[in-house]
Amino acid sequence: MDFCLQLEQSLLKNAARNAFCIQDKYYSYAAFAQRVAAIQQRLEVGYAGTLRVGLTIADNIDTYATIVALLLSGRTYIPINAHHPAERTMRIIEQAGLDVVFSQNIDVAWPGVVTEDTTAIANGNRQVQRYAGECASSYAYILFTSGSTGVPKGTPITYHNLDAFVSAFDALGYELNEEDRVLQMFDLTFDLSVTSYLNPLIAGACVYTVPDKGMKFTNVYALLEEYQLTFALMVPSVLSFLRPYFDEIRLPEMRYSLFCGEALHADVSREWMKCVPNAVVDNVYGPTEATIFCLTYRLPATNDIVAHNGVVCIGTPMQGMGCIVVNDDNQPVAEGEKGELCLFGHQVTPGYLDEEKNKVAFFGLDGVRYYRTGDVAQRLPDGNYIYCGRADHQVKIQGFRVELGEIEHHARMLCACNVVAVVVTNEQGASQIDLVLEAEVADQNEILKGLRGKLPSYMVPARVHAIAPFPLNVNGKTDRKELTKIIAGL
Ligand code: AMP
Repeated sequence: MDFCLQLEQSLLKNAARNAFCIQDKYYSYAAFAQRVAAIQQRLEVGYAGTLRVGLTIADNIDTYATIVALLLSGRTYIPINAHHPAERTMRIIEQAGLDVVFSQNIDVAWPGVVTEDTTAIANGNRQVQRYAGECASSYAYILFTSGSTGVPKGTPITYHNLDAFVSAFDALGYELNEEDRVLQMFDLTFDLSVTSYLNPLIAGACVYTVPDKGMKFTNVYALLEEYQLTFALMVPSVLSFLRPYFDEIRLPEMRYSLFCGEALHADVSREWMKCVPNAVVDNVYGPTEATIFCLTYRLPATNDIVAHNGVVCIGTPMQGMGCIVVNDDNQPVAEGEKGELCLFGHQVTPGYLDEEKNKVAFFGLDGVRYYRTGDVAQRLPDGNYIYCGRADHQVKIQGFRVELGEIEHHARMLCACNVVAVVVTNEQGASQIDLVLEAEVADQNEILKGLRGKLPSYMVPARVHAIAPFPLNVNGKTDRKELTKIIAGL
């Protein structure tokens, strides 16, 4: 069944239940549906022909109501973080071709864009209405990830992609239901947020959102504990943060504990399993381009966890998806050999907004269209896939996808010298970005200040170093590994 129909039915059927708990305040499905209906009406009256709508993200009910109103109306939503630098946001607005952004009473404005204040939209007596024709827009949402050339990269996900994800998620047997209390810890510009609100809303469960103020991972723990949540998808960085408190953490009501977004380590997972004694723990994997996640691995309660270099394997493809591991010539490699992991199936995006990027990211083989993930992987005889790291300079910081090239591009503009961004991990397992310049600079703070004006805060380096000349590898290229070692020792 199509997910919009399921969503519409759930909003009506579960009217008396709680749909959201936001900053300790509950919102029933009836109250939520009323906001959705009001926003839908505003869309029809003011923006009948507008298929792509931006929305500024915030931890409040109107943000979620706007997303659901757009989905049920067959439009495309483009989430915007208004706290990111305006210039970067403008590149997103231009690429997505937006002329309206729905917002919640906050002071934002971009040239040539109408801002529609959702808090000014009054409730009426209307019910939610699902757009029943063929989808007005084929795209459900467009998300922008860090781009190595300095410009964010727009990935559209179609209604068909999202339908395929919802069916494949159901086929995993989680059986989310009306009694479930589900964590939503993700920034709405990150696609793991989609499954964290959409699947629970379809099931009639209650979504507990993490406040956008204060320390995020502390807030996550407070919610897990206070509300004894039953289903939580988290980034593994949460575990590095919580590890010192594992002895005190007891979450007996947790049914499913999922991890996604970056490498999950076997040792910490095993310890975490004691904190969630009744939960099934899954490592799930996938890029934005293949709709949320598309491979899964269930960690055995007693047997050895399948891992490589201590990193938990990413398992096998979900329903409707498949993958192969290829060499540099796009030819499949033998079992056990390393290569680039390529994905195919119903969840794969039709392509980036920027057509040029599609030429490198997608290829055809024997009539099948593949997406190159940039991840190095290997297939085991039992069918499980092992994640062996990245083939390029993309890294994850607290789960956010960061192209080091995007940071380097802006830093180079600011200091006009050779620049490398490296990731340094401390003993607690937390990662930070350091910037290394091949020249002495008068004022490092000026560079950081300049970068703050160009990049979201999670991409701004923690420290700046000057090392000249850069160490070179055998090919005469800057030796990033060596630089990282030097920096880690400083
Ligand atoms: P994003 O598009 O932000 O979801 O990032 C996708 C990338 O995150 C993948 O290409 C991987 O590099 C990484 N990733 C996602 N899930 C996992 C996982 N379970 N284990 C290791 N890396 C992961």
